[in-house]
Amino acid sequence: MQRIQLLSPRLANQIAAGEGGGRPASVIKELLENSLDAGATKLEVDVEQGGIKLIRIRDNGHGIDKDDLSLSLSRHATSKIVELADLEAVGSLGFRGEALASISSVSRLTLTSRRVDAQAAWSVRSEGREMATEISPASHPQGTSVEMRDLFFNTPARRKFMRTENTEFKHLDEVLRRISLSRFDVDFSLSHNGRVIRQLKKAQSLREQERRVAAICGPAFIDQSIKVEMQAESSGLSLRGWISLPTFSRSQADLQYFFVNGRVIKDRLVTHALRQAYSDVLFNGRHPAYVLYLELDPALVDVNVHPTKHEVRFRENRLVHDFLFRAIHRVIGDVRPDFQSGKLPQDSAASAVVAEQAIPQQQGIGLNVPDSGSAELLAQPAPAYQSVNPSASYMREQSNSYGQLGRASQASADVNLAQLADNESQVPPLGFAIAQLHGIYILAQNAQGMIVVDMHAAHERIVYERLKRSYTEEKVRSQPLLVPVSVALSALEVDCAEEHHGMFAQLGFELARLGEESIAIRQVPVTLAKSDVEQLVRDVLADVVALGSSRKIQESINELLSTMACHGSVRANRQLTIAEMNQLLRDMESTERSGQCNHGRPTWTAMSLSELDKLFMRGQ
Ligand code: ADP
Ligand code: MG
Repeated sequence: MQRIQLLSPRLANQIAAGEGGGRPASVIKELLENSLDAGATKLEVDVEQGGIKLIRIRDNGHGIDKDDLSLSLSRHATSKIVELADLEAVGSLGFRGEALASISSVSRLTLTSRRVDAQAAWSVRSEGREMATEISPASHPQGTSVEMRDLFFNTPARRKFMRTENTEFKHLDEVLRRISLSRFDVDFSLSHNGRVIRQLKKAQSLREQERRVAAICGPAFIDQSIKVEMQAESSGLSLRGWISLPTFSRSQADLQYFFVNGRVIKDRLVTHALRQAYSDVLFNGRHPAYVLYLELDPALVDVNVHPTKHEVRFRENRLVHDFLFRAIHRVIGDVRPDFQSGKLPQDSAASAVVAEQAIPQQQGIGLNVPDSGSAELLAQPAPAYQSVNPSASYMREQSNSYGQLGRASQASADVNLAQLADNESQVPPLGFAIAQLHGIYILAQNAQGMIVVDMHAAHERIVYERLKRSYTEEKVRSQPLLVPVSVALSALEVDCAEEHHGMFAQLGFELARLGEESIAIRQVPVTLAKSDVEQLVRDVLADVVALGSSRKIQESINELLSTMACHGSVRANRQLTIAEMNQLLRDMESTERSGQCNHGRPTWTAMSLSELDKLFMRGQ
């Protein structure tokens, strides 16, 4: 047996260096955060060999006092908090006072700094087992430079875990991309092996910010995104940023940036809320893309739960989850064909909270929905649409004329737009139907050019949204089970079931406690009578325990309604009259989420005259 002895400072720091992630990307994260904490507005990063050979960061922040230089390299030394209470409302990115000590214990690190008011600059480096510091005069403008060479030169075991230069560089670049999205007010530059890779100028106006987002996430993302701007006044939560249209989804969850009070985080609760908000519109297995900024009272979020601070803990899980879900669900629901451009709107969200008016029910296109076992639902008059799109009120005024228009033009199938509307703004966003192609597509003409609609996909969404509305407005009908199902659960879950009794009741479930660790399901919604209610209740409780809320029941109901809608929609090869086609276009304009079918496929596409002209090289 060995005797107990204290670790040397270097060894203790080397162990801590492993916890921080132990690769160039984690080094650069700490260094960039230090510069930002120092109020820097300009950050220059030079990297060699993926960051393994060299990482140099120069900032124009407030610098470090000569007398503090030695301390900055020792463990548990920080200028950012003084007492425990400061952690409650910590506003800086760092606060553990470990980064520089750890990094300098596993590399050759030199820190050079000049304080705002200082006459001269000084450098510091540490040496030996004890990490004794040595200070020397240097030349440097106001601010700080950290130069880190030969990462893990003295810990060969760690060095082996490093990947190729390219892979390490990719990770490092990803860190810089994330941080640059969190601070539009800062200039960033990055060069690798002497080549400039990124050069990001301060972005003040919305346009400039979108340019930066495009530089980081690709121009396609910004082109196909919706701007988000939401506030919950009562709780003080606010959310802004950009989310992708459902039709711009990704096979990987790689374009998902979420910031909480300016800090980049990856959080299960956030991912879950976002996924749910997209659940109705995303193609199976696809991932949404987003750049979102959540702001809330720092006292409501704990950032000290993970060494790299990638995770946070919200004091009010449920509040945050519901706010995110609702905000995003709402924004996606409000996407409509835009009245002006015939394209999907960029900023529908901004107005989402402002106007909300009900417009009278448009006549359906009168197709029979085959009996799928829930005829009572389908027989319900569909409720009025809600819409925030300016075209909606236009449509209300005009809706009577559509029928006539359709009938009148039916014979010729040749809608003369010029006659119908000498003023361009009179043409609705999806235009007027001209013909049906191969029994599958509707060809329409609007003010900008042509529109092609997949009629089955579009109609499916319209029927689905109608079913969902009638379902909620009719109040959930529920039926008792002949034999109650008893479910064995953990004591925690049983308590949770009892506590959320009201939520279950609202969705048509009646649960009763049987004992410490079991409950009985006595009553279920009619729609779900044939499904695996036991599994459903288990899933819901697991969600509620982990996240404070669950939408599993609603999702199961939606899944069923979606299947019904699919069966109830126009099939291919069904001949539609022009009037029916026009009605479908009008219904699309006023239906939530009508840009995607229930499976997340797009329902329509547009081509402008100028795009057509280009195709035929007209005017070139
Ligand atoms: P922490 O960031 O958790 O405080 P670090 O080890 O990263 O711990 O840094 C230690 C201290 O060194 C910081 O608290 C700060 O006072 C100072 N410091 C580090 N980097 C910079 C910088 N770029 N500009 C000014 N001060 C810095
Ligand atoms: Mg730090």
